Amino acid sequence: MNVILLEPADFIAADRVRLYDRATDTRVRHIREVLGAKVSATLRVGAVDGLLGSAEILQLDAAGIELRVTLSETPPAKLPLTLILALPRPKVLRRVLRTVAELGVPELILLNTYKVEKSYWQSPALEAARVREYFIEGLQQARDSVLPTLRCETRFKPFVEDDLSTLAAGTAALVAHPGADAATCPLALNRPCTLAIGPEGGFTPYELAKLQEAGLAQIQLGERILRVENALTTLVARLFS
Ligand code: SAH
Repeated sequence: MNVILLEPADFIAADRVRLYDRATDTRVRHIREVLGAKVSATLRVGAVDGLLGSAEILQLDAAGIELRVTLSETPPAKLPLTLILALPRPKVLRRVLRTVAELGVPELILLNTYKVEKSYWQSPALEAARVREYFIEGLQQARDSVLPTLRCETRFKPFVEDDLSTLAAGTAALVAHPGADAATCPLALNRPCTLAIGPEGGFTPYELAKLQEAGLAQIQLGERILRVENALTTLVARLFS
């Protein structure tokens, strides 16, 4: 946790925050146990969807921690990227949501594809409160405060036929899919990009064709097949620098 993010409900005044010592609040444990912070120590904080800054510990007791907060720094820039990701299984989804926030992806679309198991859409990891939690964990790692947006598209064909070309217009539109005949992923593209990543089983030939019809060009990362989360990090590192 490289920044402690504060929720609107944590504020008891414009510049005062009270964090209650609840088992579920990892921030209090982090301040007490990892940072070992005492009264008058300064912490790096940020407001969720707001500015970053610092906080002085005014009070620290069994019930919780009170902070005086100064917020004045703008969070780091996001990547100019819309990420379309075939919904992974819940365990991978949790990691991917953290990684998306950590890498600075501003917009995530989870897409149903043939090789996405139906049951994944029922996963508790997709509940809004849980998604927010995973995003916040990623933001706290990266010292960012702005939540990515998430959209779920459970119907592949209407999304790809009706929405995708509009969404991708004016951006470098790419689909990552292994195959020696595809172009190698560009290096330091550094411009607005729409990128699709497939499920663990990959996109089917039909899906790949549909994505290409919508304007997405196939790119590949070499002959090694990477896990979804490693493919994501590798693609982002290559495309943006
Ligand atoms: N079994 C699948 C691979 C799935 S890997 C197949 O053979 O096609 C999961 C996703 O990660 C892929 O759909 C792709 O979007 C991305 N990916 C993994 N390795 C890749 C590579 N070498 N090149 C391009 N994309 C890759």
